[in-house]
Amino acid sequence: ESFQDVDMGEIIMGNIALSRYTRPTPVQKYAIPIVKSKRDLMACAQTGSGKTAAFLLPILSQIYTEGPGEALNASKENGKYGRRKQYPISLVLAPTRELALQIYDEARKFSYRSRVRPCVVYGGADIGQQIRELERGCHLLVATPGRLVDMMERGKIGLDYCNNQTVAFCVLSFSFVSLRYLVLDEADRMLDMGFEPQIRRIVEQDTMPHKGIRQTMMFSATFPKEIQILARDFLEEYIFLAV
Ligand code: AMP
Repeated sequence: ESFQDVDMGEIIMGNIALSRYTRPTPVQKYAIPIVKSKRDLMACAQTGSGKTAAFLLPILSQIYTEGPGEALNASKENGKYGRRKQYPISLVLAPTRELALQIYDEARKFSYRSRVRPCVVYGGADIGQQIRELERGCHLLVATPGRLVDMMERGKIGLDYCNNQTVAFCVLSFSFVSLRYLVLDEADRMLDMGFEPQIRRIVEQDTMPHKGIRQTMMFSATFPKEIQILARDFLEEYIFLAV
């Protein structure tokens, strides 16, 4: 039982060592291989279980290692400095500003010395400042649902760059300019807070890559009917994990 059991590449392994995580927690031990095998995941895990690293590590590892040069291309095109609209490779939805910031901090730790640039947007704070940060490049976006809808309406965040490009451009770039990883963290709390309309608006919009094309992970402390419905709607032949 060690992080060495799954090869996540040099950058991730180095950053795990820097973070002083010595051994994976149970949710990490089970979720990391599932995410790396590209399956959708519904995980029941509490706060404090280490669930954040359980999805961030395999996602970042895949962004770094999948296809030679892909992450490089992604940062040249997708995360271009000064681009008005950003097309993140990975999107993490979280219920509160506090949780969003915690996930962002963890993402920064694990993307250290890589080309992947994480960013965060949440409500109740100056939107102009968040827009300026986004425009510096954004590969992994952590967001609360209301603020993300606002950013999308302002044209600051897109999901599928191909949507308004020529066919030739799309063929050449499809694999790295659309959203590939979607995470719903603390899904039960997001529903309790009344975010279902915003979540559906985000996940069910035309430009969202379909389930089975994107990889989707849901985390929730509980698994009531409403979460089961969301899992049925958003996940493709998912693996259920309870720790
Ligand atoms: P989370 O459940 O993701 O909010 O994580 C709870 C806390 O545990 C955070 O402060 C993490 O930094 C820490 N943590 C997560 N995974 C590990 C690990 N494998 N070893 C030590 N600490 C960890």
